[in-house]
Amino acid sequence: MVEECRRLGVKTIAHARGREAVLYSARAGVDVIFHAFEMDDEGLEEIVRKGCVISPALTFLVNTVEFTRPGDPCYQWRPNMNRGDVEVASRMLVKAREAGVPFMVGTDSGFAVTPYGEWHARELEIMVEHLGFAPAEALRATTSGNSGLLREGDAVGRVAAGALADLTVVAENPLEDISSLMRPENITYVYLGGEEVDLAPMPEVQRYSWEQSFRQWGEVYTRQRVAELAC
Ligand SMILES: [Zn+2]
Repeated sequence: MVEECRRLGVKTIAHARGREAVLYSARAGVDVIFHAFEMDDEGLEEIVRKGCVISPALTFLVNTVEFTRPGDPCYQWRPNMNRGDVEVASRMLVKAREAGVPFMVGTDSGFAVTPYGEWHARELEIMVEHLGFAPAEALRATTSGNSGLLREGDAVGRVAAGALADLTVVAENPLEDISSLMRPENITYVYLGGEEVDLAPMPEVQRYSWEQSFRQWGEVYTRQRVAELAC
């Protein structure tokens, strides 16, 4: 499949968590491996050899650990299990970073603990806090790193004449506080292809219960809801 994709000029991504899944994905030469939580040294060596990129997407696990509450159906088993997952994953992902593996930034959005439009920047915070990234390094992974996967190629992920001018302008310096990217009031302007995006709140949309991923949670944990619960 990977060979055929390459022949067609299409990138390949594998969602691989377990030791063997990571190893076989790397052997096959997949472009991006999502998670790689339980990779071992053999898998890491293969990743380095084949030049695979890793996208940890740890936000889902960390949010699960931090947001799940006693009333949620998965409270009895999921947070503790995922706490262990984060520890195991961090150990090897730190090693991968030190081995020079390029990282991309994804978030596993769409679950009740990772609703769309809410926690995307949290992955950067996690990379800084759990994986030893410098804020600038995490930002580079998000911009020029992620652009490597897109068909737009060099036109995105950099600020240069002739590029697409997809820009986010922030008030606070994310190099000093990477978490500032999660505060909506800190996002001053967003440009998409040089056009200013209207940042006024979107009208309420109807949500359905089946959007709540496996129904493991009783509600959707938006930034606002999590802030309310913390009070
Ligand atoms: Zn995933």
